[in-house]
Amino acid sequence: MTSITLSIFDIFKIGPGPSSSHTIAPMKAGHDFAQEAAHLSPEKLERAEKIEVRLYGSLSATGEGHGTDAAVVAGLMGNPPETCSTDLIDGLHLQKNKSVDPINIGGKAFHMAVGEVIYDKVQHDFPFSNTLVIRLLDKDAAAIFEKEYYSVGGGFLQWKGWTAPERGEPAYGFNSAIELGKMMKESGVSGHDALMQNEKAITGASEEEIISGIDLILDAMEASVDGGLDGEGLLPGPLKVQRNAAYLYRNSCTMDGFAGRFIALLLAYALAAAEENAAGHRVVTAPTCGAAGVIPSVYCLLKRNLGIPRKNLRRGLMTAAVVAFLCKTNASIAGAEVGCQGEIGVATAMAAAMITYAVQEDPVLAVHAAAIALEHQLGLTCDPVKGYVQIPCIQRNAVGAVKAYTAHMLAVLEKPGYFDLRLDYVIKAMAETGRDMSCKYKETGLGGLAVCMPEC
Ligand code: SF4
Repeated sequence: MTSITLSIFDIFKIGPGPSSSHTIAPMKAGHDFAQEAAHLSPEKLERAEKIEVRLYGSLSATGEGHGTDAAVVAGLMGNPPETCSTDLIDGLHLQKNKSVDPINIGGKAFHMAVGEVIYDKVQHDFPFSNTLVIRLLDKDAAAIFEKEYYSVGGGFLQWKGWTAPERGEPAYGFNSAIELGKMMKESGVSGHDALMQNEKAITGASEEEIISGIDLILDAMEASVDGGLDGEGLLPGPLKVQRNAAYLYRNSCTMDGFAGRFIALLLAYALAAAEENAAGHRVVTAPTCGAAGVIPSVYCLLKRNLGIPRKNLRRGLMTAAVVAFLCKTNASIAGAEVGCQGEIGVATAMAAAMITYAVQEDPVLAVHAAAIALEHQLGLTCDPVKGYVQIPCIQRNAVGAVKAYTAHMLAVLEKPGYFDLRLDYVIKAMAETGRDMSCKYKETGLGGLAVCMPEC
């Protein structure tokens, strides 16, 4: 088996919320389709009359609440997720049945309103639940060009016939936490040096480029927290959810004692980034948009309230990425595949590892903290009410952040020698639990809170 060749920047991606599977990947699909179709022959482009977008599986079931329709159209209009403006997305949502700006493909203008995106079958025969098919049609509705895309979780996009891009071999290869521990023991290399060497070998980027990429990610995380702390009023959608982060943040000053204030701040930071995500604003997948509040909250706490230096925070973020590599490779980070244990659960494990490595620089302890955190998120279902990444998602980020800190404390304060590299077994349990979980609890809106709280 070849070693993991995922990059830190595969896990942490900047883009609009509220769901990496439902917004970032579909926006990439729209953008890719427009670029590919632009290379069609002039004769084919001349015949093309219309663009058709069909959503399947969980994209169909909860795509409306997640804003998938606007995301695909924004992508077709030529916007990649990293730079797509929040104003454009807000405008597309407001004018559902009107074409805002034309979609330009190979110099030809197509007019398409967000409301024309078709919500097709939830149960289907495509190889992945989150499927979307984009077609260029002639006047008889026959396809001139089509592409079948799969949103496979965490903003990753594949398509029919996709093959993984060529990547360099990691300097320190591993596929499991046990292999990682063995490799580090044998080589004597530090955790962060091994990860930096791997990132350089896999991506071909220089150390300076990697550091500046990590800084961009950390800054975007902090911006998502600050955006949420500045936000007031209702979040978009029918649930009438109030933004709460700023209120909680102000109230944290009134808490008695250091511990109370500390937890209140962590909760406020996590709510802030999660509320920004729910508003469809720019966040960082960590590992997904739905879970985009957990790591930014511990990052802000470590930076602002515990004074942990930037160098350690970068190293902590790299360690968090390793936890996501293992979970993605050996289970899943998609709510549509394994439920929320793969999103908030994995984010909690990543955050626990990040805190522990940033504070202790001990990779074994960091992996142990991740195992503790994930162990207590097993079985977590994905059941967003009315398909909006708001209830339970926003508060779930806050609870995940506190659990991450708790896991860090347990790992650090336990008797030395108790810890081990059991993370692999917990990830295996997550994969098995996810396999056995009914599809009602996998981002389809057909079970759990989504049906027990229909009127909220
Ligand atoms: S319940 Fe969890 S997995 Fe589902 S949308 Fe919300 S955050 Fe994502």
